[in-house]
Amino acid sequence: MSASTETSAHWQGVIRHYADYLPVTDATPIVSLCEGNTPLVPAQNFVEAIGGKFKLYLKYEGLNPTASFKDRGMTLAISKACEKGAEVVACASTGNTSASAAAYAAKANLKCIVILPHGNIAMGKLSQSLIYGAETIAINGNFDDALRIVRELGATVRVEVVNSINLVRIEGQKTAAFEICDQLGQAPDFHFLPVGNAGNITAYWRGFKEFFDRQRTDRKPRMCGFQAAGAAPLVDGHPVENPKTAATAIRIGNPASWSGAIQAARESKGLIGKVTDEEILHAYKTIAQTDGIFAEPASAAPLAGLIKNIHTRLIPEGSVITATMTGHGLKDPDRALLTAGKEPTLVDPDTASVIKAIGI
Ligand SMILES: *Cc1c(COP(=O)(O)O)cnc(C)c1O
Repeated sequence: MSASTETSAHWQGVIRHYADYLPVTDATPIVSLCEGNTPLVPAQNFVEAIGGKFKLYLKYEGLNPTASFKDRGMTLAISKACEKGAEVVACASTGNTSASAAAYAAKANLKCIVILPHGNIAMGKLSQSLIYGAETIAINGNFDDALRIVRELGATVRVEVVNSINLVRIEGQKTAAFEICDQLGQAPDFHFLPVGNAGNITAYWRGFKEFFDRQRTDRKPRMCGFQAAGAAPLVDGHPVENPKTAATAIRIGNPASWSGAIQAARESKGLIGKVTDEEILHAYKTIAQTDGIFAEPASAAPLAGLIKNIHTRLIPEGSVITATMTGHGLKDPDRALLTAGKEPTLVDPDTASVIKAIGI
């Protein structure tokens, strides 16, 4: 069966499906957990709730093997590390990169070292790194400190760094843009996504451009990326020393792919904007309750950006918009409980008490 006619029942991951577009050869040992092929879910209830006049589809990346889009880049990074004969891989992470690195390293039988900012990792992500068996180090510092240490580690000891400073990660991540084009039949008018270290916006733009150049789509979207207001170096125009946001996956003060993000926004006539935590958490709760999509807080930043742009002239009526839901909501159950703002109602174990409590 050729790659392009492969059905989802036979899906074997993004490298095999898009090999012609990726830096792999027959000599590359493919390490895959069958990532990718995630659904593009229509979210018209949300659009109606916010008073929009456009079509919205959510690329639900929380349904990847470790529940975030990071798996697309990690399958390639770990495969290339194996091709080079690496025995140890390392990454700094706000949580999802480490979850993904730990899983793919386990699959490839590599040692994995993870460096995390102590106290700022969502519980689901931390539990993943530990159960997949990674050597997990917490530092008294933020993500930017962790990334600096990992860069230095990569330069001094024999470890392969699998952060997005490892350029093959971006190559793997661009497959999400390919899938969107394949699923819609063409590129959307706009693509919205959260921006932290800015690897993903760089990757999507590269993916859309490559599909356009190879005539797999006749248009390219305007790229609209959103940072959290307390961690918005690209919008503010300078690194942020102490980034702060409840959306921990984008709590980054000095993005590694700074220029890639700026280029994506400029070339596509898009934008990079910022949204407050209040706006992010409002969008987070709204998308769960209108369309049944439980994504992690960072994923809601582009939805908050959409709400913010309802009354600007950015989006013409009838536009087709896609947005990346970068990670699954179950990664951060503490935040969900806080944001839902209520406890289960406790009643006596009889039907009358339940009927009384539910008020119907
Ligand atoms: C990594 C991540 C981001 C940010 O992506 P960048 O490529 O760093 O901009 C956003 N959301 C989630 C859930 C992530 O894991």
